[in-house]
Amino acid sequence: MPDESGDPNVASIPKVKLRPRKAQPFFGRHPWVRDSGVERVEGHVEDGDMVQLVSDKDRFIAYGLINRQSHLRVRLYSWDEGAALDDSFWRARLERAILMRRELGLVGDDTGCRLVYSEADGLSGLVVENFAGHLMIQITSLGMYRRLDSIVAILTDLLQPKSISLRGEAGILKLEGLEIESQLLSGELPSDPIVIVENELRYQVDLSEGQKTGFYLDQRDNRRVAASYLPPRAKVLDMFCYSGGFALNAARHGKAASVHGVDGSGPAVSAAQRHAAGNQLANVSFEKADCFDYLKARVDAGDQYDAIILDPPKFTKSRRTIDEALRAYFHINRNAVQLLRPGGILVTCSCSGNVSREEFLMMLLGVAQKSGRDLRLLEQRGAAPDHPVNATCLESEYLKCFIISVS
Ligand code: SAH
Repeated sequence: MPDESGDPNVASIPKVKLRPRKAQPFFGRHPWVRDSGVERVEGHVEDGDMVQLVSDKDRFIAYGLINRQSHLRVRLYSWDEGAALDDSFWRARLERAILMRRELGLVGDDTGCRLVYSEADGLSGLVVENFAGHLMIQITSLGMYRRLDSIVAILTDLLQPKSISLRGEAGILKLEGLEIESQLLSGELPSDPIVIVENELRYQVDLSEGQKTGFYLDQRDNRRVAASYLPPRAKVLDMFCYSGGFALNAARHGKAASVHGVDGSGPAVSAAQRHAAGNQLANVSFEKADCFDYLKARVDAGDQYDAIILDPPKFTKSRRTIDEALRAYFHINRNAVQLLRPGGILVTCSCSGNVSREEFLMMLLGVAQKSGRDLRLLEQRGAAPDHPVNATCLESEYLKCFIISVS
């Protein structure tokens, strides 16, 4: 696919002019220019082209990629007038992202790591994960999709991966006017699942088409830390367990007496069972069930646990349904608190970017008040460092993880 290259001839780059008084966030390096802030486009553009964002007084602000089909009209990448968005720019950004993970010790032959995380790495619309040398690319913007060939070439040069796969994410792609089919872009996938080691535990990750079980890398450190808070010989419940990450860490590192994991997805539960067996953990069991129903049934039966982990999926994709999401969080957290014996440990997470840390804390306050129990927050955590938060795009913070002593 064609790409801009060579020195920027700034005058020839189409301009996106902002409305009066709309420029401040972008001088402040926020990367998302919404359609409502744009006065007009000057010059001919195709969707995905590089543009220069200028203030209503015609002052240069940043270079970005335009998509007139998206409410995020321009995504910004470079605030340096001398650094336009050519291949050497993308290469430098990718190198910077990968170098940081290397220096954190997260890139290895048998590890899983998010190498590039969209806005957090100044690469809005691009996510790249590495599973033991096999790369998985997720594209969520049209501008990045048009540069896919260059990105694949740069990643190949920097990492010599065994394979590169592409995954489409339907919801966001629709907002961008894009259709992407999941496919293998280069190299070969092994016929057996790929094995990664995390916190000394082995997991299978299946990247082949139709499977795409994937793995939630953002919880790596939370799984290990949560395990370290378990009381001795604990009876643990891992809700929304997916492929078993929290449960396995609780058994191996937390020395739990028994762990039961529950998830609504059959393939996830099968993967979790394979992982328990593969790591020789006999005191861990899994079952397929709806976690809302399961928690209620345990409360009705009067069951008690020493520790409960709640790691549900995103409950809302928009601010409009925030109240419903908070009610759902309240519901599962209230039931979990009821199931904990005094002194028990609650590990409660939210990956809804639209629910702020403060709102989640207010929900927990409500749980403490309604249940008449004391909730003491021992640790307030976020995602692992290969999912950083960009200080000029706080929307890149999404994962909250609280470790709480329930009296
Ligand atoms: N804790 C996991 C990640 C959880 S992701 C880990 O450490 O890897 C959220 C999970 O919730 C998904 O596996 C999804 O299948 C499951 N899920 C979503 N809604 C559910 C429901 N109502 N009941 C049970 N599981 C559900």
